[in-house]
Amino acid sequence: MERVLSGMQPSGRLHLGNLVGALQNWVRLQEKYECYYFIADWHALTTQYTDASQIKENIEDMLVNYLAVGLDPKKSTIFIQSWVPEHAELHILLSMITPLGWLERVPTYKEKQQEIKDRDLATHGFLGYPVLQSADILIYKANYVPVGIDQLSHLEITREICRRFNFLYGDVFPEPEGLLTEFPKVTGLDGRKMSKSYNNCIYLSDAPKEVEQKIKTMMTDPKRIRRTDKGDPELSPVFQLHKIFSTKNEQEEVADSCRTAAIGCLDCKEILIKNIFKVLEPIWSARKRFLEKPEFLKDIARAGTEKAKMAAKETLTEVKNVLGLY
Ligand code: SF4
Repeated sequence: MERVLSGMQPSGRLHLGNLVGALQNWVRLQEKYECYYFIADWHALTTQYTDASQIKENIEDMLVNYLAVGLDPKKSTIFIQSWVPEHAELHILLSMITPLGWLERVPTYKEKQQEIKDRDLATHGFLGYPVLQSADILIYKANYVPVGIDQLSHLEITREICRRFNFLYGDVFPEPEGLLTEFPKVTGLDGRKMSKSYNNCIYLSDAPKEVEQKIKTMMTDPKRIRRTDKGDPELSPVFQLHKIFSTKNEQEEVADSCRTAAIGCLDCKEILIKNIFKVLEPIWSARKRFLEKPEFLKDIARAGTEKAKMAAKETLTEVKNVLGLY
């Protein structure tokens, strides 16, 4: 079976954007591939090194969410990055062969430095995170990494490092490919892309009342001020969520009724609330079950880590052999 690898940074709670943009796809992939899904806690430190106090809590919440959305530890290897120190060892070895220019060229290096103004990101760790990412992927000899089209360039440096290593020392790593999947972009409560940095998210851990309240107060077509005003659904963030969570029939009905002012925004939002609840209710009840069993969660992480370690050690032995390390 070919291998897939993916991970997420525990830098905050998971939201509907993460669910639709990644996790639901991961659940599908585990039926077809040997999947390794990890919690990238070292990556979270590359930007959150000044205050790491939330990372532990976020790891626990992420683990609960991984399981609650349907990742199955019997099918997928679920583990925590820092529990497999072999990633760090391969990171060091790969960093020896990675030209500095490749890292300085990575678009997110400059973008994030400009975006995150409250922390100094001119650090060795932040510059080197693509090498760590490459180690994460190559240590499992992953064939595929699920990505959206806009993230394909992120994988390119891993492919370059992989080629350079294989050229210098012999074919050890398969060149990982992006497993392209087009995901709808999930709109946040304010009409921008749903993102924790915009504070516009519906989180998987939000209580039902909170979700209801967030949708009831979310932005609509700004020109639809009175109930009698006709609206344009395309200008309404609410409708953007209908496009993901409501049926085609409901979408058409809502769009027509919005344009003719036959429906009020609150009624329109009620339909959306019902449909988002349909997706979130099974996740909420699974979260509740898992949160009641913290030891079980740790066991899952331990077992996944042991399995990941075995594969990682095997690769590292091969790497050390070709490098001629004693
Ligand atoms: S009726 Fe629905 S789609 Fe139209 S503006 Fe109101 S909330 Fe948005």
